[in-house]
Amino acid sequence: MLVALCRTSRGIGLEITRQLLESPNNLVIAGCRTPEKATALNGLKSGAKGTLHVIQLDVADFDSVRAVLKAITPILGESGLDYLINNAGIVRIITIPRTLRCSLISLAMQGKEDTPLTLDPEVFLETLRTNTVGPALLTQACMPFLDKGQEKKVINITSTLGSIASADMFKHLGAGGVATYSISKAALNMLTYKLKLERPDLIAIALCPGWVKTDMGTQAADLEPAESVVNILKVVTSATAADSGKYLSHTGTVIPW
Ligand code: NDP
Repeated sequence: MLVALCRTSRGIGLEITRQLLESPNNLVIAGCRTPEKATALNGLKSGAKGTLHVIQLDVADFDSVRAVLKAITPILGESGLDYLINNAGIVRIITIPRTLRCSLISLAMQGKEDTPLTLDPEVFLETLRTNTVGPALLTQACMPFLDKGQEKKVINITSTLGSIASADMFKHLGAGGVATYSISKAALNMLTYKLKLERPDLIAIALCPGWVKTDMGTQAADLEPAESVVNILKVVTSATAADSGKYLSHTGTVIPW
């Protein structure tokens, strides 16, 4: 039985949930901010071979994260959690039209609106809260269940934009552009490595899904969500202790820090 806590109402997280539910052996606890509005997520229940529980979870709301233990205890009872997939993420730029938000392409077109010298401190904090601090706190909250799990895997969904070694590759996003998101993912990478050092018995991985056709990735992206997620799940399920603390792409190749 694979028991995973993943967060998602749409995009990559929704597809991870869909693919996990193709097996009757899997139990998925899917967290999302507004379960009553998560039509696509709730829709996965019909026809699913696995078991889906949808819980309320806003990773940017620390009370909501701390309440997760109470929400999952009746579901898991004495069972453990095998996988925690920290998937939720945001890209925010406040100075471009709403319809263009969350698109890295549009950030590129807009040039220097989110650079070290132009970033909005509130946007920076909001991004860190969701992309970095939320996953840290959620991992803390889930530890009692991860400790009882067979696999003990914590997967932090990161981005190659968080790679300092690859930063020059993204100059087309504007010199210094997409700074807040990139910094939040670089910090998530370090969080992953620190977790591996603190807990050698866990398998902690920072994993980039590739450039995927979602609201965030836009339709200009290379990969369909299904393709990315097939790869993600292969990497995640086959990862061993030797992979802990690694920064991996969806195909399993190592990304330089
Ligand atoms: P989407 O924008 O399509 O979906 C983001 C998901 O995160 C939504 O389900 C959203 O829920 C959820 N979310 C956002 N904020 C919160 C929050 N505070 N609490 C709970 N859930 C929240 O993004 P993707 O699916 O593309 O991205 C998933 C992950 O993959 C992210 O971490 C992203 O950084 C990473 N990534 C994506 C790439 C891509 O090309 N798509 C490339 C590299 C990395 P809601 O519906 O409530 O808003």
